[in-house]
Amino acid sequence: MDSKDRFARNTPKKTVNAFSIDVEDYFQVAALASAVSRESWSTREYRVEGNTHRILSLLDTRGVRGTFFVLGWVAERSPALVRSIAAAGHEIACHGFSHQLIYRQSRDEFLQETTRAKHHLEDVIGQPVLGYRAASFSITRDSLWALDVLLDLGFAYDSSIFPIRHDRYGIPGASPSPGRVTAPSQRTLVEFPMSAASFLGIQVPVSGGGYFRILPYALTRAGLRQINEREGRPFTFYLHPWEVDPEQPRLKVGALSRFRHYTNLDRCAARLERVLDDFAFAPMRDVLTAQGLLAANTPAFPSLNGDSVATRRRVSAAS
Ligand SMILES: [Zn+2]
Repeated sequence: MDSKDRFARNTPKKTVNAFSIDVEDYFQVAALASAVSRESWSTREYRVEGNTHRILSLLDTRGVRGTFFVLGWVAERSPALVRSIAAAGHEIACHGFSHQLIYRQSRDEFLQETTRAKHHLEDVIGQPVLGYRAASFSITRDSLWALDVLLDLGFAYDSSIFPIRHDRYGIPGASPSPGRVTAPSQRTLVEFPMSAASFLGIQVPVSGGGYFRILPYALTRAGLRQINEREGRPFTFYLHPWEVDPEQPRLKVGALSRFRHYTNLDRCAARLERVLDDFAFAPMRDVLTAQGLLAANTPAFPSLNGDSVATRRRVSAAS
């Protein structure tokens, strides 16, 4: 397909969806946590840089920009990776620090580590970080208090709520459309929920991750088209760098986790190319702005103490 064809297929009439990557390594996945101690992370084969660059070049070939929710642990180890994602025109957002499930953390632990991750990312790119996505979508009915912490930290939007039923996450019945959610304090935060399509009345999360790798692509495409065309709203697509890496070391885990994590790793990059050709994408920040949910120049820095990146730099240089 030459570039003219591709342009014709991506004409502006198409709904523009949010493209997102959760930047973490294969050994940080919640489903594999039983097989990997946190203490061992720093000694494991580190593959997230190469895999992220592979995705960056796929996106670059197609001129697609997206949002990269970067884990603080990875950002501290690989600041140059974060800078090269931003330099390629993508949005940098925050995936927390340690990939802990929020509903297993205290509010204070969550505040401390999210502050660390957000400030580090902002120091690396020299710009405000507006978006947040929880490890394993772990903002559930039990952890809605996390929305208040995100508001206190100056995040402009969250993208963690999955409006489905699942063993580890989900708020069944939550709105599937981008909009505002109410935190326990009654303040509201912009939410871009994870996307699911309805087949025979069942919500199927066709929009990324394991579902995207495991389900036949024709089903994924039908579900995503349904969201865009029948329901008339954008979806959020998501993937992890390790999902395009069939060479990653295999960990000893149970059958269900093995199936979810390792199925079709060798076919995922080709599928990603298809989804990029079949749908139109932009960074999440831009989709929310187009929806009228974020102001065009949202930045501002209402961080906890109202301090700026520059102020924090001066403080950390002085300490
Ligand atoms: Zn994650």
